[in-house]
Amino acid sequence: MDGSRNRVVNELMDTPLRFEVQDRCQAARVGTVHTQRGSFATPVFMPVGTRAAVKHLAADDLESLGSEIMLANTYHLMMRPGHDVVAGLGGLHEMMGWSGHVLTDSGGYQIFSLKPKLDDEGAAFKSTYDGTSHKLTPELAVEVQCALAPDIQMVLDVCPPLPSSREQLQWAVDTTARWAQRARDSFTDASARYRDAHPERPALSQFGIVQGGIDLDLRLESAARTVEIGFEGYAIGGLSVGEDKTEMYPALAATAEALPVDQPRYLMGVSDPISLVEGVAAGVDMFDCVLPTRNARHGTVMTSGGKLSLRRLEFRDDKRPLDPACLCSVCRRYGRGYLRHLLLTKEPTAQRLITIHNLAWTFDLMDQIRDAVRTDGLEALRRRINDIWG
Ligand SMILES: [Zn+2]
Repeated sequence: MDGSRNRVVNELMDTPLRFEVQDRCQAARVGTVHTQRGSFATPVFMPVGTRAAVKHLAADDLESLGSEIMLANTYHLMMRPGHDVVAGLGGLHEMMGWSGHVLTDSGGYQIFSLKPKLDDEGAAFKSTYDGTSHKLTPELAVEVQCALAPDIQMVLDVCPPLPSSREQLQWAVDTTARWAQRARDSFTDASARYRDAHPERPALSQFGIVQGGIDLDLRLESAARTVEIGFEGYAIGGLSVGEDKTEMYPALAATAEALPVDQPRYLMGVSDPISLVEGVAAGVDMFDCVLPTRNARHGTVMTSGGKLSLRRLEFRDDKRPLDPACLCSVCRRYGRGYLRHLLLTKEPTAQRLITIHNLAWTFDLMDQIRDAVRTDGLEALRRRINDIWG
């Protein structure tokens, strides 16, 4: 163990998470998030394992891909198999056989798509699994996530629909701030109890979430109120919910700038190639999105030349790899014609192999982005990505 890791480990005795910035290029930064579990390099893309598995993959696949952190969905796991069942199976890491990091959302995003009844107390909704009624409160979201035991958990926030009036946005900001304080109070007790119950496990962290739509004043107000409560990191929520990219990027940049420079910033649910590079340029460190894996299941391949729809007839006799510039295990071994055949005949292997490629491709893009920040090449990479994907 080198001296710098030793120092970090000593500091982590008092704090569950520490962020170290190694390089900067204007607002963009390359860094490392250290936890008691280990560390992960940023900017990072987190694949989404909705029900505690990235569809078609297992933990060893993610390890082979070099993934250091994945995301799981609180709402789905709370409904099936139930957070108490996950806790009984040893928590998410032990259950999945995964030793990398895990982040869980609070369940808010899924619940808001179910049009819940909202009041100051929480969000009442009906389960999509069996129609039963539930009420998620900031305190329950903490309790459920402490049972799931991810390394990083999110507060329950109010994600207003688009379009929303200024009054609706203000209510969402106010309620999100009040819920964030309740979530933090609840987390302080729950994480201490967790440590007593599981002294052998790494400590838990909690991130706050900034809302405010595309209204810059509300974004700044929400950021200030969230930072005042104090979390291990901060997420930018409520973007890419249907607004124009020209409205999204200024709101993103203003929010990122208002968050502490020495803590990780996480842009929730956004990861098309342009948003990744623009997000990093704005100072974001963490991203998640179902896009690469959902695309894969539909036969949409991400390549260095842009999107490729593998169902098209032109690929029937094509022996070339999905992306000739990609070095992933799938591109080294299989050709487009074969994978297209598997896809069209609905062989599950097709979705698995394309998922592996799309994730490898996205991780490689993150490598390129980190290199670009280190070598002052982010502007050139931004232009190239915008040319190909714009
Ligand atoms: Zn590949």
